[in-house]
Amino acid sequence: MDSERILTRLRAEGYGISPDYAGADAVIVNTCGFLDSAKAESLDAIGEALAENGRVVVTGCLGADPEYITGAHPKVLAVTGPHQYEQVLDAVHQAVPPDPDPFVDLLPAASVQLTPRHYAYLKISEGCNHRCKFCIIPDMRGRLVSRPASSVLREAGRLVEAGVRELLVISQDTSAYGADRKNSVSMWKGREVSDSIHDLSRELGRLGAWVRLHYVYPYPFVDRIIPMMADPSSGLLPYLDIPFQHAHPDTLKRMARPAAAAKTLERIVAWRDICPEITLRSTFIVGYPGETEAEFQHLLDWMEEAQLDRVGCFQYENVAGARSNALPDHVPEEIKQDRWNRFMETAQRISAAKLDAKVGQRLEVIVDEVDDEAATCRTKADAPEIDGNLFIDEGFEHLRPGQIVTVDVEEAGDYDLWGRLTPG
Ligand code: SF4
Repeated sequence: MDSERILTRLRAEGYGISPDYAGADAVIVNTCGFLDSAKAESLDAIGEALAENGRVVVTGCLGADPEYITGAHPKVLAVTGPHQYEQVLDAVHQAVPPDPDPFVDLLPAASVQLTPRHYAYLKISEGCNHRCKFCIIPDMRGRLVSRPASSVLREAGRLVEAGVRELLVISQDTSAYGADRKNSVSMWKGREVSDSIHDLSRELGRLGAWVRLHYVYPYPFVDRIIPMMADPSSGLLPYLDIPFQHAHPDTLKRMARPAAAAKTLERIVAWRDICPEITLRSTFIVGYPGETEAEFQHLLDWMEEAQLDRVGCFQYENVAGARSNALPDHVPEEIKQDRWNRFMETAQRISAAKLDAKVGQRLEVIVDEVDDEAATCRTKADAPEIDGNLFIDEGFEHLRPGQIVTVDVEEAGDYDLWGRLTPG
């Protein structure tokens, strides 16, 4: 992630990372400028850093609009936009000149990570060629720019060597990866690898860590990845995070969503035929401008059929600069709330039934955390931070984060599982 890259560079130059405001020579605030509520939070975070420390460098999405920040907080030292790593470093160098030190002035082999060491986010491209009406990411981050597969694989290889056991592949549109590079081919470990999500997934899977794909659109060529997911030796987890956002064709059209016309239910059935254990996660927006009760009901019916494993849902919110703001027939707040409640009821019921079906199964889990009460783990069906957990609350004391162990599932809740270590 962007913060990790900045920290990696600063650490490599000999800077220390302070856990609190008081001990720091300067504070970098990485902002998000997407939802209006996130913008307000970012401004609050900048204000807090100014009050607590006084020397603040702002970066991230909100930095694309410097006046917005300096208008509210004229005392910030510098404002840099998204992915302007060099400018962030320059601003830090000015605020706190680096101590030249030949022993630390080398980029370490492994990144300094904010996430626990055993999983890492792997960003494979930046920007997006779509124009979803509720989204301003293409305006802020530009068109799709993919990293060459060999560069992604080198970074991933280093992470795995440094002890990472799970790679989370992220981008704005993972299925589009490589399209801007015309899927050019390079050599990696003596094999031809094209800049395509198929080849990249295959090679990432060979590194020996779990590989999880996020933000994939249901394009026909995604079908080619599913057989790899069905093969446990491929390393590619049977998990797809697909932001469907809605199911009614008219709503999707008003959203200008990619793959809006795709026959997603048929595609899901076909995927499950090839890989029955596949976990499908998605996010949805309810109360999009013009969403009728019939469209919403269509979404609920679709959910009953699609039986997705993991689901997040947001109530539509205007975002400054988004084209959806100008659409007619905005949905009143209380109807949005009511639809969200009904949607979540359905999603929770489906999730609970899916988890219930896992009781009695023997599953591999990765340990995230161990405290006095339990080991918090995840199955292959759970991405960190957004999905559920599996807890082991007996005989867990010797476990360590990053370990992969086998568990017999004993109990299920609405979102989480409980189990015990498989004997032997
Ligand atoms: S696919 Fe749509 S929602 Fe996703 S980043 Fe691109 S424009 Fe935004």
